[in-house]
Amino acid sequence: MASKLRVMLFTASCFSASLTAAPDNTLLIRQGYLIPMTVHGEDQPFTDILVRNNQIVKIGKNLVAPDAKVIDARGKYVMPGFVDAHNHLWVTTMRGQFRNKQGKFFPVSNKLAKAMQPDDIWHAMYSGSLELLQSGVTTTGDFFDNIHGPAWGDAGFRALEKSGIRAIMYYGGPDKTTKNMIDLEHLAELEKQSTSRVQLGLGWRVPRDLSSQQNWAMRDEEYRFAVQHKLPIQVHVSGDAHAMFDALIDRHYLSPTLTVVHASDALPQQLNSLQEAGGGLVLTPVSEQRVGYGLTLLDEFKGVERQGLGIDGNALSGGANMFETLRTAALTESGYAKDESLPDPRELLTLATRRSAESIGLGASTGTLEEGKRADIQIINPNTLNMSGFGGGDPAALIVYSAQPTNVETVIVDGRILKADGKLQGVNMEELMRATNASAKGLLERSESQM
Ligand SMILES: [Zn+2]
Repeated sequence: MASKLRVMLFTASCFSASLTAAPDNTLLIRQGYLIPMTVHGEDQPFTDILVRNNQIVKIGKNLVAPDAKVIDARGKYVMPGFVDAHNHLWVTTMRGQFRNKQGKFFPVSNKLAKAMQPDDIWHAMYSGSLELLQSGVTTTGDFFDNIHGPAWGDAGFRALEKSGIRAIMYYGGPDKTTKNMIDLEHLAELEKQSTSRVQLGLGWRVPRDLSSQQNWAMRDEEYRFAVQHKLPIQVHVSGDAHAMFDALIDRHYLSPTLTVVHASDALPQQLNSLQEAGGGLVLTPVSEQRVGYGLTLLDEFKGVERQGLGIDGNALSGGANMFETLRTAALTESGYAKDESLPDPRELLTLATRRSAESIGLGASTGTLEEGKRADIQIINPNTLNMSGFGGGDPAALIVYSAQPTNVETVIVDGRILKADGKLQGVNMEELMRATNASAKGLLERSESQM
C-alpha cells in the first residue's frame, strides 16, 4: 500500500501537465504525403486528414473544418504510427547493464527485476512508453512479467495510461520460472479499469519442465481464464523452442487469441500449424540477435499472415527505435541471402504498422490511415541532412534506410497530439531524466546489497 501511495504521489507531483485533449478535439492535417498502409491503398500526395475526437473521420483533398486545429504537413510523410507488438517496458531502467560477456541479459535482468519496487516499475514503463512515442511508435504490446503483487501491476497500468500510448498490457507472473500462478484476480480487477486505449491481456508462459502435469494444470487455468474473459494472450517460444512449439500444438493451445513471440528455429510444419489456427507471430530482430537466438530471417516466417515486429525491451534492443528494427531486419535478410534485391522496403513498413497491429488483434482500430480508424498517426519530416538528397518516387526505401526517430515531428495517439514540433508534449524532460536515472541508480544499489 505504501508503495502504491508513493507512485500516486510521484505521478501527481512531477508530471502534472495534462495531455488530455478537449472532448471535441478536432484536427486537420493538411497537404501531407499520405502513406496509408492499407491493403490496396496507394500513397496520396497533397492530401488532408480530418480527425474528430479519437477517430479519422475523413481523408481527402482540400477538406474544410473551421473548428479544427490545423497541422501543416506540406513536404512531410504522414503515416500510421508504428506498432511495437512485443516489449518488456519494465526493463527500460536497466540500460547499459547488459554487457555481454560481463553480464548477459537473462541473469542480469532477473537479478535486477527482484529489486524493483512499484515506483521503479512506474519509472521504467513510463519513460519507456515516452521513448516509444518519441520514435513514432503509437502502440505497444507490453509483456509485463515482473509483477510481484497488485501494486506492481497497478504501477505498470498507470504508467501506460499516463503516457498516452495505445497498449495491450499482457499481465504476467513475478518472473520467468513459471512456478507461480499469475494473479488472475488482480488481472480481472485491472480489466475493469481498462479503456479502449489501454487494454489487458495475458502474459502467458509454457512450463519450463514440459513434462510437469501439475505445472500444465496451472498454465491451463490461466489460459482458460483469458479465453473466458476474451483477453489476448502472448507466449514466448524460444530456448527449447521445438519442444515448446510442439507442446502448444499437441495441447491445442494455438488459436486466434494467441500470439507466439520469437518462434526461433521454428519448423515449417509448426509455422503451418500456427497459420492454420489463425494465431499471431511477433519477431523481434534486434533483441533476438542480441541474445544469440540466431539470425532473424523474415523470409522463413512468411507463411504466417498475422505477423508483426517488436522492440522486446528498449534497453535490450538499445532503444525504442523501429527504424533501426526495420534496418536490422532488412540487412540480415539481404546479407544472409547474398541478394541485394531482398527485402521489399514497403513490405517492411507494412510489417511495422498494419501487420503488427493485426498480429496482436488490433487491426480493426489501428495500423493504417483509414476513415473510421483510431487516429494513431506519425508525421515524418524529411527536411534534415540524413533524409536529404531524395529526388522523388516511392519514399519507402528512404524511410526504412535513412529515417531516425528525430525525423518524427508529430505523434498523435487516439486523436491526442503527444509530440509536436519534435517535442513530447506535457513532459518536463529534465525532471523525467532525473527521476528515471535516480530509479535506475537506486535499483542497481539495492540489487547489489541484496547479494
Ligand atoms: Zn519477450
